[in-house]
Amino acid sequence: MPVSGLPPYDTNNIFARILRGEIPSRKVYEDEWAFAFHDINPQAPIHILVVPKGPYCSFADFSTEASDAEIAGFMRAVGQIARDLGLETPGYRLLANMGAHSGQEVPHFHVHLFAGKPLGRMIAE
Ligand code: 5GP
Repeated sequence: MPVSGLPPYDTNNIFARILRGEIPSRKVYEDEWAFAFHDINPQAPIHILVVPKGPYCSFADFSTEASDAEIAGFMRAVGQIARDLGLETPGYRLLANMGAHSGQEVPHFHVHLFAGKPLGRMIAE
C-alpha cells in the first residue's frame, strides 16, 4: 500500500525496526549516517537499499529537515557503497520513491541501488 511520504514519522516502520536491529537484514554497509542492506525482493541482480539513520519519511522530508552533515554523509555513503561493490565501471541506477504516485511503500527515506545487468528503460510503460 503506497504511503504519503509526509510526516509524522512512524517509528515502527519496517526500516526503523531494521535500523534498531529488531528485524534481521543482510547488511552491506554502515557508517555514522547511513545503513545499507539487500532488498528482500530484488528487482535486479544487485538491489540494495540505503537508508539514513535519522527519522525521515521520504526524500521530501529528508531534503528539507536533515542537516547539511546528514545529507552530505548520506550521499557520500551511497557513492561509497557503489564504489566498494565495483559498480562504477559497469554502471548502476539510483531511485528514490516519494509518495503515492511513486508507489513508495516504506515511510523511511531510502535510495534503491540497482546494478548487475543493463537496466533497461528508466520508467516502465
Ligand atoms: P519503496 O516502494 O518504498 O520505494 O520500496 C520499499 C522496498 O523495501 C521494496 O523494494 C521492498 O522489497 C523492500 N522491503 C520491504 N520490506 C522489507 C524487509 O523487511 N526487508 C528488506 N530487506 N527489504 C524490504
